[in-house]
Amino acid sequence: MYSYTKMVSNILFPLHERLKQHTSVSVRNSMEQSQWWSSDKLKSLQISKLRSMMSDVYKNVPYYTTLINERGLNPEDVDSVEWVQNLPFLTKSIIKSDTDSFKSKKVCSLKRFNTGGSSGEPLIFYIGKERISHDVAAKWRATRWWDVDIGDPEIVVWGSPVELGSQDYVRAIRDFFLRTHLIPAFEMSQENVDKFIEQIRRIRPAMLFGYPSSLSLIASHAERKCVALDQLGVKVAFVTSERLYDEQRAKIEQAFGCPVANGYGGRDAGFIAHQCPHGGMHITAEDIILEIIGKNDEVLPAGEVGEVVVTHLATSEFPFIRYRTGDVAAIDYQPCACGRGLPLLSELQGRTTDFVVAQDGTVMHGLSLIYILRDTSGIELFQVIQESKNKVTVSIVPGDQYHNENNIEIVRQFKQRLGQGVNVIVNLVENIETEGSGKYRYIKSLENHFG
Ligand SMILES: [Zn+2]
Repeated sequence: MYSYTKMVSNILFPLHERLKQHTSVSVRNSMEQSQWWSSDKLKSLQISKLRSMMSDVYKNVPYYTTLINERGLNPEDVDSVEWVQNLPFLTKSIIKSDTDSFKSKKVCSLKRFNTGGSSGEPLIFYIGKERISHDVAAKWRATRWWDVDIGDPEIVVWGSPVELGSQDYVRAIRDFFLRTHLIPAFEMSQENVDKFIEQIRRIRPAMLFGYPSSLSLIASHAERKCVALDQLGVKVAFVTSERLYDEQRAKIEQAFGCPVANGYGGRDAGFIAHQCPHGGMHITAEDIILEIIGKNDEVLPAGEVGEVVVTHLATSEFPFIRYRTGDVAAIDYQPCACGRGLPLLSELQGRTTDFVVAQDGTVMHGLSLIYILRDTSGIELFQVIQESKNKVTVSIVPGDQYHNENNIEIVRQFKQRLGQGVNVIVNLVENIETEGSGKYRYIKSLENHFG
């Protein structure tokens, strides 16, 4: 066996130091090498990074100083990825209960974020430069798997310029290269979709980026209007943030004449996995230790489906260690035909977001309503059901901080989005039933979008 010390001194430590330069270019260069490593070698890298991160957070992050002392652990003892099992799971409530105790004392330039997307429970957290470099590098590497690169013309179908910032790594790349055109995903009236299709035909992007639901909506619309989009030279459609259904994939691939590449991650958990052209959903194993957890919080073996729990190894500035994502998937160590050693994520069941329809027929992404609820304090969980163009029911599980006056404000803002004549009903409830997968569906629309 190759000596562990030798491996650390000859390969891993120099690599680790290079990564510490905090530039996404050097991180990406390293990742482009390490993606071809064997899974054993990738695991050794994870162990050495975990040891170094734990030593760092033990010294500098008050929450972990207390926790590690209480548990009598020594970060120098980290000798396996399973070592993380000595630590408890991290949840949004734990971070919320004392956010400042997660900030590293040695860092002064942290950026404040809150979770977007369809998360029912908002979270304020912080991101440091190291973390950003790594997430940018991971996205950049995955982009290049598809024979496109940052700087190629691109059309982005996303919530709004502000929410685009939610994909931090994406924004960092885009702020620099100005060849990205934004289509607002919340404004999908038939008239607007016609304009968007014209825009796509004019720009002839090399790649598309957006929610699966929005891209497939555009694809369906073009198909119905007999507008060809498959000869524009689009090489790939990147989708993220939602569950990708097979029929959406098929629709987008047919309309644009290009493959769909699924990406999985979040502002909080990081850039977790991305699909390669051979179909494998590769985990960013250089930065992410991924565990799959069963119903009784036990760690499940490869192949079994459970909740995705993430340890992000580039987060010593504001650690995400054993962070519960609420998403459901399995780990798969089968080799991918592309030859990359990065393990695969399978059976991914991301979040589902429906569209909603305003009274005047404008089709809007469900996130436009979710953001209203996300910004209301004291909501533990919610579900929005659009029964018709004229009636919407909002169920809310209130927390201690919830005030009944919030109901009036929610109704006001929903009417602003959907139309003044819409009957908006807010119900405070004790519980909301999950779907078959055990996940909540935050928005359900029973209305036919383009009916
Ligand atoms: Zn692959």
